[in-house]
Amino acid sequence: MNRMDNSRIPLLALRGLHVFPGMLLTFDVERPASVASLGMVAGADRLIFLSAQKDLSSDMPDADEIYSVGTVCRVRQQLRQAHGTVCRVMVEGLYRAEAQHIDANPKGYTAEIRPLPDKTERVNSDRLEALLRSCLSLFEEYLRLNQDTPVEQILSILANPDPSHVSFYIAQNVHFSVEDKQEILECLYPSRRLVRIRQLLGRELNILSIEKELNEETQEQMNRNQREYYLREELKIIQNELGDEGQLDDLDEYRRKIQELAVSDEVREKLLKELGRLAKQPFGSAEGAVLRGYLDVCLEIPWGKKTEETVDLAKARKILDAEHFGLEKVKERILEYLAVKQLSPEIKGGLLCLVGPPGTGKTSVAMSVAKATNRKLVRVSLGGVHDEAEIRGHRKTYIGAMPGRIIAGITQAGSCNPLMVLDEIDKLASDYRGDPSSALLEALDPEQNCSFRDNFLELPFDLSQVFFITTANTVSTIPRALLDRMEVIELSSYTDEEKLQIARRHLLPKQRKKHGLKANQLRIDDKVMRQVIDGYTRESGVRTLEREIAAICRKAAEGIAEGSFKSLTVKSDKLETLLGPARYKRDARRIRNEVGLVRGLAYTSVGGETLDVEAAIVAGSGKLELTGNLGDVMKESARAAVTYIRSRADALAIDPEFYKNTDIHIHFPEGAVPKDGPSAGITVCVAVISALTGRPVRSDIAMTGEITLRGRVLPIGGLREKTMAALRTGVKTVILPADNEQDLAEIDQTVRSKLEFVPVNHVDEILDLVLLPRESEQGKPALTVPVQEDRPGIRQ
Ligand code: ADP
Repeated sequence: MNRMDNSRIPLLALRGLHVFPGMLLTFDVERPASVASLGMVAGADRLIFLSAQKDLSSDMPDADEIYSVGTVCRVRQQLRQAHGTVCRVMVEGLYRAEAQHIDANPKGYTAEIRPLPDKTERVNSDRLEALLRSCLSLFEEYLRLNQDTPVEQILSILANPDPSHVSFYIAQNVHFSVEDKQEILECLYPSRRLVRIRQLLGRELNILSIEKELNEETQEQMNRNQREYYLREELKIIQNELGDEGQLDDLDEYRRKIQELAVSDEVREKLLKELGRLAKQPFGSAEGAVLRGYLDVCLEIPWGKKTEETVDLAKARKILDAEHFGLEKVKERILEYLAVKQLSPEIKGGLLCLVGPPGTGKTSVAMSVAKATNRKLVRVSLGGVHDEAEIRGHRKTYIGAMPGRIIAGITQAGSCNPLMVLDEIDKLASDYRGDPSSALLEALDPEQNCSFRDNFLELPFDLSQVFFITTANTVSTIPRALLDRMEVIELSSYTDEEKLQIARRHLLPKQRKKHGLKANQLRIDDKVMRQVIDGYTRESGVRTLEREIAAICRKAAEGIAEGSFKSLTVKSDKLETLLGPARYKRDARRIRNEVGLVRGLAYTSVGGETLDVEAAIVAGSGKLELTGNLGDVMKESARAAVTYIRSRADALAIDPEFYKNTDIHIHFPEGAVPKDGPSAGITVCVAVISALTGRPVRSDIAMTGEITLRGRVLPIGGLREKTMAALRTGVKTVILPADNEQDLAEIDQTVRSKLEFVPVNHVDEILDLVLLPRESEQGKPALTVPVQEDRPGIRQ
């Protein structure tokens, strides 16, 4: 088909491409039909009709799948590639034409064509000029954004500002869609083409600028990551050079651990910042060591780690009962507390404070609560803490700085919801280094402890999940602000019977287990246990008792291990070989009734005690001597007692001049133990009267009570503990203020049944009960006072 009509020329269907009149374009031709069309190009003109196909996916488009309007081109160059099938051509667009009839012959497409020149139009030349300029400036911007085409190109078009040419040029060089390009090609009015191009360019520019923004963002992110990576690698090389390789692995390890912590962003950022500072330190520097220490401590803290808390009242009751004998009231109070917690967990409950003498089971009750609520237990001792920093920690810049006891406790517990027992809160002291109680208040107050700040950490830590239980021996020295926030539960001294039961049911089995002994390998019967309690302990709790039992267990274990015996049953007569001679003998100190020596009762932080008072009268000039490490209140109450005796000298049948010619010395053994309080008033009074009258005092009576200048006896505190102490020392009768009579209901049953109680309103009521007739009257010499023989007994 080399020969054909003038109007019939080969046709090449373009896929995704347009060639506009006046444009020069090179492209590859690959489809056999297209290569065949090229082969048909003939004559000096070498004309070919290039028209776009509508469906890009079709390899052999039908006639109606090809746009009828296309461009007649001249093939300027045709180059068959080395491997055959592909042909590279360079064509020059000559004019627009319309295909009248397309012959879609697989051996070469042809078309009968008719030129379609631009239509002349009547347009305002200024408007056309404006359109042209606007299109050119948009195109320039497009080129600038697109960057693949050099901007200089624009200059070449500007040299020929013909609207038709400009429109085709822009359409050729901008990425419009096939449909848009076709629309431009088909438009016969240059000005309309420009209008359309302006619209399309505007849209394209908009898209391009958004695309550019997006690219920049990604680029920036990539750059940052790359930069960081690059810097890190560089740092590694530098540190390798300096011999710091180990540190790098360390730093990565720290970074990994910090990323893994379940902490707030604030905490993580702070830790990463400190890590950043560490990375800048030369290996082995002092500051580096501080930072390392800091990070180690922070990473060890159980941020967000919790044990699953359970509040099962029945289980709690079971555990408390199984592990403790008696303590009914205490258990009930604790269960009530847990019940409230169970019903409304969101209520930030008060703090529990267990108050009682040492060894009465405070810590052990707290341990049971921990077990019942499935919390870890941690003990923090506050005894002797007088520096705020011990609670809250020192800033990390101090040498040897550490977190305070609260955070250290949390770390030790390994969970952020442990049960924390704060022991000896009554022994907190405060001095110039700050007040530890205020720091403690911050830690314990449910309102503010969700972001407790430790000076060392410099980070907030949530303490609101922690169950705090405090313990104390007495409430009197607990700082007021703390006491106000606490719910006090009192544990009092045990009676001998209770001690026996505790020893039998708990202490002995516990110690046996600890020493690897079976039940049949060591037996201690009740009689012997009573002997241990009586002869080897004098305490309110059972701590020493437990120690003594442990000592017996050690001896048993030793004997069994050595093969001396297979089992040990402790008998009374063996006790001395096991534990040494008895340390206390009931009433050993006083079996005789003596003049001027009275047994008082005192209440101390470690429980009740008997407190002897000695009074002696010597010839002198009326001085009153008070010794035995007494506090002011005690001294004053002793003076008041003496004044009362002076005012009653007549009635008491005492020489009214005694305060002029005798010195009175009142002494409270043991001299080294500090004592204070007004409750020894009645005791002092009786001792002095006894000394002045020479009448011995019954040694099986103990007494307590404050006294007024008129001899009235005022109520006192700690009756329960005092009566137990009295019973321990073998007293039979206890004299107590009548106003305390209702407190007898609180006293233990066993104590009540073994003691006789005498309530008094006035000191005179008991003198005949307590004082025996003068010894000289019983045929023995008077002791200290030159008592007139004819002096009558005391009358009331
Ligand atoms: P505290 O903390 O009050 O000083 P502890 O809790 O340390 O006293 O008690 C000392 C020992 O006595 C512990 O071994 C404890 O188990 C035991 N103990 C105290 N009271 C009882 C009790 N009522 N029942 C069983 N064991 C007790």
